[in-house]
Amino acid sequence: MSSSDTPVFRRLQNVKHIIIVLSGKGGVGKSSVATQLALSLYSLPSSPRIGILDIDLTGPSIPRMLGIDKHPVHQSSDGWVPVFADGSSARLACMSVGFLLKRRGDSVVWRGPKKNAMIRQFLSDVRWGELDHLIIDTPPGTSDEHLSLMEHLAPLQTLSRLSSILVTTPQVVALTDTIKCLSFTRTVSLPVLGLIENMSGYACPCCGEITNLFSTGGGDAMANREGLLFLGALPIDTQLVDLLDSGGHPPEGESVTNIDAYSNDLHINE
Ligand code: ADP
Repeated sequence: MSSSDTPVFRRLQNVKHIIIVLSGKGGVGKSSVATQLALSLYSLPSSPRIGILDIDLTGPSIPRMLGIDKHPVHQSSDGWVPVFADGSSARLACMSVGFLLKRRGDSVVWRGPKKNAMIRQFLSDVRWGELDHLIIDTPPGTSDEHLSLMEHLAPLQTLSRLSSILVTTPQVVALTDTIKCLSFTRTVSLPVLGLIENMSGYACPCCGEITNLFSTGGGDAMANREGLLFLGALPIDTQLVDLLDSGGHPPEGESVTNIDAYSNDLHINE
């Protein structure tokens, strides 16, 4: 099979840019940044078509952040139809393992091969159509999922369509783990668009004044040191937490699609 003849290549060849969002640690706001990035691109005057793929298999949070976590995913003869966060406008497509769980809070306990198969299926079987940007939210760190992702996306790398964004918080521990992420991107020749420092100070809900709760400037300094573009600092914003963590969700425990039905379709050897 030539590199341009893989199911993933055929499915994603009409995606102009693929941006992989990475962080060294969990809880630094990677999914929040991925969601905000998708929404910001969506709001551009050119009305681009955006996809957001959540491959954080054990902690999928993008559907909840977009307020679409109880939507079922439909399977058509041509693959999975993603959930459109903007309804009939159909310009903001989302796919996540979260849509396949019976209940919010259910966990996915899979070994590496099954995770790899799920990621391959997300990349090759979802009907993304023509997209301007596909944002991929990954698990924290650099694990099996990241290696699978890069392996399947490798044929597209030759078209210079792949890039990444690193998300960190200002604390030294987070910055240290970000260096490991950076090292991963260099090992797999994944270009880095830049670094975002999230939770950089606290924005007062009354006056907007920023108070630095943790150390500050670490992201900027690291970006300078490593020759990365510093894309900006996002303060802790209580309104953002409310917006991302809430939403008009159906009642807890309401059954949607059964993940086992899908995972049975995966051709894998565990
Ligand atoms: P990660 O994907 O790195 O594990 P999340 O994006 O899930 O992290 O964020 C973890 C929690 O922190 C979520 O509840 C989210 O709403 C909150 N959060 C993220 N960024 C901010 C921010 N800038 N201000 C306030 N809360 C934030």
